[in-house]
Amino acid sequence: MNDSISIATFRYAAPMARPVLVYKGEALANYGFGDPHPFGLDRHGVFHDELVAAGLDGAIEYASPGHATVDDLLLFHTAEYIDKVSRMSAEGKGFLDEGDTPAMPGIFEAASHVVGTVIAAVDAVMEGRARRAFVPIAGLHHAGRSNAAGFCVFNDCGVAAEYLRKKYGLERIAYVDIDAHHGDGVFYGFEEDKDLFFADIHEDGRYLYPGTGAASETGRGRARGTKLNIPMRPGATDADFASAWQRVESYIDRAKPQFILLQAGADSLEGDPITHLCYTEQAHADAAAALCRLADKHCDGRIVGTGGGGYNRHNLARAWTRVVQSFVEAG
Ligand SMILES: [Zn+2]
Repeated sequence: MNDSISIATFRYAAPMARPVLVYKGEALANYGFGDPHPFGLDRHGVFHDELVAAGLDGAIEYASPGHATVDDLLLFHTAEYIDKVSRMSAEGKGFLDEGDTPAMPGIFEAASHVVGTVIAAVDAVMEGRARRAFVPIAGLHHAGRSNAAGFCVFNDCGVAAEYLRKKYGLERIAYVDIDAHHGDGVFYGFEEDKDLFFADIHEDGRYLYPGTGAASETGRGRARGTKLNIPMRPGATDADFASAWQRVESYIDRAKPQFILLQAGADSLEGDPITHLCYTEQAHADAAAALCRLADKHCDGRIVGTGGGGYNRHNLARAWTRVVQSFVEAG
């Protein structure tokens, strides 16, 4: 009845000198939109319960959420948009977009905690306090520089990429997205940036929101030909994913990134209520393991994973737990 047993049979040593951090706390759990919205407030707890059931809690270190300042948000977002979110969050009614992303009371603060937590994860990895880190409620990849979209208010991955450049002077940053939806907020936010290496395997936009991410979209201007979008047919399986993944792996290897951001959306697993892909959590485990190998080869192991989408609770708990397991097992 409990298929987490297969993971629980692993025995993990005590956390190493540079541990895998997993972020946990009420400030992070608070990002969501309540019943009956698919992005409910229970996703954080469901994942953390599974992490314990899988026996991984002894192999990682927990870390508490951070909080982004307005200056942090300004690294990616426009001042006008930040003001709009602040104002609508205080009013607490209506939608921040066309109808997917409600302006819940306090959503500005909740979204700022998501961004701040990913920044904290980036700091921990860059400063050598952690080898890798995972933030379950994050990877809000649809938010654009000046707009909310698809349950996403502030784009933590976009802010993190800009933050890595400003604070640490990095240039070559890889963003890998295996969520069922195209990471349009990140893609268009960096469409002309040739040093933001973008690889995204997603359900074909002809069948799923947001409709973008055709293979022909490879970047603009100086970045033309530098980005990788791989649309998948509805019903695509682990075998289809593995085949597409080979292209991602060689692309990231050639990019020689200085830091890797993984958006590990679990809505690409079979049984998600709003998408049509049919992977198992093995896809997430394999992708995370491969990215750890690439991170070890090119950038001293530096990778931060984010949970992204995922609306079937069982699926998100399993997929994210397998990402963390891969981070741990990669050493
Ligand atoms: Zn998604």
